[in-house]
Amino acid sequence: MHRIFTINGTSLFKRIWNEQKISQRTILTCVAVPFLLTSLVVAVKLWLFPGNIAAPYLFFFAVIMISACYGGGRSAIFASAITFIASVSLLFLSDTISRHAIEKHIIQALVFLIESLFLSGLISGFQHLHAENAIGATALEESNLIMKIKKKEHEDFVHMAAHELKTPVTVLKAYNQLFQAKLLKDQRQDELILAGKMETQLDKLINLISDLLDAARISSGSMSCVMNAFRINDCIKDSIEAINAANPNCKIECELENSDPIIWGDQDRIDQVLANLIGNAIKYSVHEKYVKIASALNNGHLVIKVFDKGMGIPLDRQKYVFERFYRASNPPMGTLPGLGLGLFISAEIIKKHAGTIGLESEVGKGSVFWFSLPVKRSAVIT
Ligand code: ADP
Repeated sequence: MHRIFTINGTSLFKRIWNEQKISQRTILTCVAVPFLLTSLVVAVKLWLFPGNIAAPYLFFFAVIMISACYGGGRSAIFASAITFIASVSLLFLSDTISRHAIEKHIIQALVFLIESLFLSGLISGFQHLHAENAIGATALEESNLIMKIKKKEHEDFVHMAAHELKTPVTVLKAYNQLFQAKLLKDQRQDELILAGKMETQLDKLINLISDLLDAARISSGSMSCVMNAFRINDCIKDSIEAINAANPNCKIECELENSDPIIWGDQDRIDQVLANLIGNAIKYSVHEKYVKIASALNNGHLVIKVFDKGMGIPLDRQKYVFERFYRASNPPMGTLPGLGLGLFISAEIIKKHAGTIGLESEVGKGSVFWFSLPVKRSAVIT
């Protein structure tokens, strides 16, 4: 209701006060309009009340306002001057008027002049301010548009570069696997270790490229999830197994929901979220590599928590960690690799599953990252 009123009010105001048209009026018409309107008012007044020399101030006020809407502040100033001259001129139409009455009418005309000039000044000031605001708004719109174009170009570039990088790196990984098979056959242990290290680095590179591609997909709204019913406990166990193999020094504990809940979602994407949260828990635990994964049902949702005893995140930075490219810069951060995309992507994935994601953290004590997913009671695993 309020909004409809505001829109109508704004458009009505724009019809009465058309800044663009006002600025295009010539000085001649800005004088002519108040002159003609004042002449018309005086003519009608003399026709209706021939003997009355009192100036029709109310109508003169209307003349000033109409002139202002036609030609802005300068028209209003001309109208003030012309109506004042008309008020004084009316006095000369009578031969019998007393000196006292003349003085009274002149004082009235002067007061009217002061008031109308003050009003014209206000109108000029308003016009100036309105024009400045309009210029400011246009400049803001233009810079917003330029920023949007630049952002789109940047996103397109990142998407294209990541896409172009992914193919050769994946091919390189395939060659490395063939190479490893050959080294294994030839029993060349030293070279096999080196090839294994190369494989780890290639996996990291592939993950970074995938994160960039996912971030670009999220920005363009094209990230999709393929939904299926699946057992989340199996999914968590698989993630732990993979992490265990890659981090043999890390102590991993697990406390899973007994009822073996079934989730309706994209298993690969949920794997990705788990890998990110568990991977972060290990990465940001410089001294004690410990991770605990716990899950429990709560109000038709399965809440999965990943605990660590790592560096933690300062309270004032916690609200930003799910933003794109954000990295909470605790002192040792520079040494820890990352793009600041993992949690951004995880949050988008959980959002797509109608779930929620969050964290609790204390600097020096550790963090708990959690997410919840709605549980499907009637889902059947195919
Ligand atoms: P990345 O790890 O690549 O920097 P993420 O989006 O996964 O990107 O994480 C964003 C930031 O949140 C990290 O840079 C780090 O500062 C902080 N963070 C994430 N997980 C943890 C954690 N378990 N402990 C401490 N800080 C964390």
